[in-house]
Amino acid sequence: MATAILDFGIEKALEQLGVSNHNKGTSTGSDWFSSEEKISSYSPVDGELIGTVETTTAADYEKVIQTASEAFKSWRVMPAPQRGEIVRQFGEELRKLKEPLGKLVSYEMGKSYQEGLGEVQEMIDICDFAVGLSRQLHGLTMHSERPGHRMYEQYHPLGIVGIISAFNFPVAVWAWNTALAWICGDVCVWKPSEKTPLCGIACQHIIAKVLKENNLPEGISCLINGDYKVGEMMTKDKRVPLVSATGSTRMGKIVAATVGERLGKSLLELGGNNAIIVTPDADIKMTVIGAVFGAVGTAGQRCTSTRRLIIHESIYDKVKNAVVDAYGQLRIGNPLDENNHVGPLIDKDAVKGYQNALEKVVEEGGKIVVEGAVLSGEGYESGCYVKPAIAEADNSFKIVQHETFAPVLYLLKYSGDIENAIDVQNGVAQGLSSAIMTNNLREAERFLSYAGSDCGIANVNIGTSGAEIGGAFGGEKETGGGRESGSDAWKVYMRRQTNTINYTTELPLAQGIKFDL
Ligand code: NAD
Repeated sequence: MATAILDFGIEKALEQLGVSNHNKGTSTGSDWFSSEEKISSYSPVDGELIGTVETTTAADYEKVIQTASEAFKSWRVMPAPQRGEIVRQFGEELRKLKEPLGKLVSYEMGKSYQEGLGEVQEMIDICDFAVGLSRQLHGLTMHSERPGHRMYEQYHPLGIVGIISAFNFPVAVWAWNTALAWICGDVCVWKPSEKTPLCGIACQHIIAKVLKENNLPEGISCLINGDYKVGEMMTKDKRVPLVSATGSTRMGKIVAATVGERLGKSLLELGGNNAIIVTPDADIKMTVIGAVFGAVGTAGQRCTSTRRLIIHESIYDKVKNAVVDAYGQLRIGNPLDENNHVGPLIDKDAVKGYQNALEKVVEEGGKIVVEGAVLSGEGYESGCYVKPAIAEADNSFKIVQHETFAPVLYLLKYSGDIENAIDVQNGVAQGLSSAIMTNNLREAERFLSYAGSDCGIANVNIGTSGAEIGGAFGGEKETGGGRESGSDAWKVYMRRQTNTINYTTELPLAQGIKFDL
């Protein structure tokens, strides 16, 4: 292992998390199963092999589903607040292991250590949220049209929730799903991204310890590993009533069709193409901070990363110059070193996607205003470090319509009224996050109105990235329509039942229908 990494305490972090050089990849809790095939996890930080993970075979998947089905029978009858207590303990374990887990996230995925810690903090926050929610899984009561009748609705657990997650939030997305699913009485089977499998191993060890200490059965939290073929085992399996899938729109379309074919439920959290509208009334300093963090944070690999800046023509040059100046100050390098702003992309395929975007935008008539580059030499040996780039472009360009998962920011100019900017903002296939920078109340309200942004997230005077767990998270159109995390997102993890109780000696029918015998 490279010395630089030893300096950042990665080896110690792996040890604390129970991650070794060779890991079994299938687990029902404390039980782990061996297999022949494995995936290797290389760090984008320095290109080193961190460890291998054995993939899940069809036979092992079968054992996982049977164990999970069995566990569901006892887990669903445990009172929800007691399930909340388990999630509380899980949150406590995460607090203890926040630093090593944050480090592993940073080293395996490539985001900054600060963002790694932030991701673990999100896990802790959703646990806290879920604990409170475990006492509030409430339905409505309604007045019956029939005398002496009572009507209400209640929510029951669904069963096995399958979770398929993306590389860029290798631990938080799992927690957003599991913390809620568990208090709802469901059991979970998780397939992490094949690009960040060690984060999955670490998380499984953490929850397995909590479940064991509470004498809970195997199967409440299960882990499977591998590529899309292992994901397909769940999407095709009718014993998995809900599949929550986070990743590209390409993947979401396949998952939705496969789960839909068997009339299962899917919760889809897919790609974004997020924009900030900058109006003549914008605070330029705030705009620059919001835009630059949104575009280059996590090296442009957040689903909510800012990809488009839609700037009014009257302030276009001013905003452009300020953003270009800010890019001049960015430090690119090892994300574990807190002095750097931008870490690596996940792998060399992502680097190709970045290079392709920069070529395409020029081919389509755009103009590069901050040159991109793939960095090489000392500190950049992994070949995954790129220079954040900016191009002037038009919303109609094919490449602008496409989500490039890299730090490429497009500047788009609008003229006239705010409606024109909203049309540009909405003029893409995706609908995840959006923002407006303005001190003009009318513009802000029009942006948030029914004729405004068509995204799942619409912000005023903050950027597009960095959502809080208290709100429901997700997007419209090709982002998939799913909602996770806060608000009433828990309802998707449960089935709703309407109950009508007759406490009379008569049997009146609804709608006044008579059926006299
Ligand atoms: P990806 O689509 O390549 O892979 C995501 C996951 O889906 C992986 O675990 C993969 O193995 C699995 N998968 C792929 N094809 C599958 C199939 N046919 N059946 C079952 N499983 C399958 O995405 P990625 O490169 O890991 O992540 C980047 C993408 O994720 C971006 O588009 C980003 O916007 C999106 N994302 C969205 C959100 C959100 O909340 N909306 C959050 C994070 C990432």
